[in-house]
Amino acid sequence: MPRTVIVSNRLPIKIQRTEENLTFQPSEGGLATGLGSIYRADGNVWVGWPGLYVQDESEEEYVREQLAEDSMAPVFLTEAEIRDYYEGFSNGTLWPTFHYFAQLALYDDALWQAYKAVNEKFCQAVLARTGPDDTIWVHDYQLLLLPEMLRQARPNATIGFFLHIPFPSYELIRVLPWRDELLRGMLGADLIGFHTFGYMRHFLSAVSQLLGLPSQNGQVETPTRTVLVDAFPMGIDYGRYADAAVSEQALAHVQEYREALRDVRVILSIDRLDYTKGIAQRLRAFELLLQRYPEWRGQVSLLMVVVPSRDQVAQYASLKEEIDELVGRINAQYRTISWNPVHYFYRSFPLEELAALYRLAEVAMVTPMRDGMNLVAKEFVASKTDQRGVLILSERAGAARELSDALIINPTDTGQLAEALHEALVMPEDEQITRMANMQTLVRQYDIFAWTKLFMDRLAYAKGQQLTLA
Ligand code: UDP
Repeated sequence: MPRTVIVSNRLPIKIQRTEENLTFQPSEGGLATGLGSIYRADGNVWVGWPGLYVQDESEEEYVREQLAEDSMAPVFLTEAEIRDYYEGFSNGTLWPTFHYFAQLALYDDALWQAYKAVNEKFCQAVLARTGPDDTIWVHDYQLLLLPEMLRQARPNATIGFFLHIPFPSYELIRVLPWRDELLRGMLGADLIGFHTFGYMRHFLSAVSQLLGLPSQNGQVETPTRTVLVDAFPMGIDYGRYADAAVSEQALAHVQEYREALRDVRVILSIDRLDYTKGIAQRLRAFELLLQRYPEWRGQVSLLMVVVPSRDQVAQYASLKEEIDELVGRINAQYRTISWNPVHYFYRSFPLEELAALYRLAEVAMVTPMRDGMNLVAKEFVASKTDQRGVLILSERAGAARELSDALIINPTDTGQLAEALHEALVMPEDEQITRMANMQTLVRQYDIFAWTKLFMDRLAYAKGQQLTLA
């Protein structure tokens, strides 16, 4: 029976080293949930880095055996590989370029060499577990070269690729010294998926201008094959967030927070620490709100969660300092004995507490400079079981293409953002309900399970069409 293999940089597992042994804990991300029914099925497997440096061969063997029980196969990487392929080329070159922060990108051939070598390593790991007619679904920007590497070795395999971050305009892609190889790497797939039609158009334009390959109706003609390109906006596990919001644990947390905050209204902000997320701009907008509308002082607080991320990278460390300073400045200027303008948390929260925060907040500010999709926006919508609440959403998040009932703003326009905050705080309840209900219908229908099925069906269709054309 043909198998299906999922490949991503990270496996959906958290392995921790304690003094005596290793502990294994599945991670609960949306992607892992959505793909669960696929990789856990008989004979299928998820290939990726387990997030652990092994000490010797016997430990490697032990981890391999443990993961096999949960349908996972590890690709072990060294510290140097993680530094150069992951932190270096993936997060230091591709991440800033694809999010329109090209001035932060590193152009270092040694990092590129490491990226190629690790993609090759993933290729070998996948080949060891697949036959000629299997289906392979490759995920994200760390593995752009993998589809073509697999194609060389398995000309008849069914290969899908999905990019979870934006695909930028041709003008950004052309700056990369390795642009042609990267595009060719992706074109090894039969189906290439993006979150939005905009990203898809950028890709088709880059392929046409850089490789001279024409396309029609989202089909790219390479000299040997037709590659289908399409948009698949990723969803969330709607039920999980809707249920969590009304769980006993979440309600207990809401009560606890409410007592502490008394009747102060809450604006929520949740992101990983990243320069793409517009966190500093958001703080400035909140400060401007307090300046322009003094009546909100003492009445509204910004509850800001920043999840530590990539703090080994210098740019992330300096962003952290900027945020710390801004929070300090705003709080020092406006706070009173009984009111704190910004409640700032630099750590991550478990689902039950996140659910309580989503439920508590009247307004969510999701204002990234660039974001492939942004799941926090959708989770906030799913958590609003009473349909009260307002989402302020950046026009440059992929989610804005679907959630047009949010207050859509330009995140660099601090004035507009401050006005949107005011508008959200005075929005009549019936308007909140209409907007939220519309967004919920959409987020509920196109959830993570629908997304997975749509991609897999489309992949089978793309392959079927190729066979008819051949
Ligand atoms: N998240 C979390 N704990 C936290 C804060 C956030 O698990 O304390 C989750 C959040 O629920 C969401 C994810 O982190 O599912 C962030 O995804 P998003 O697409 O918004 O941004 P990314 O971090 O992938 O760029």
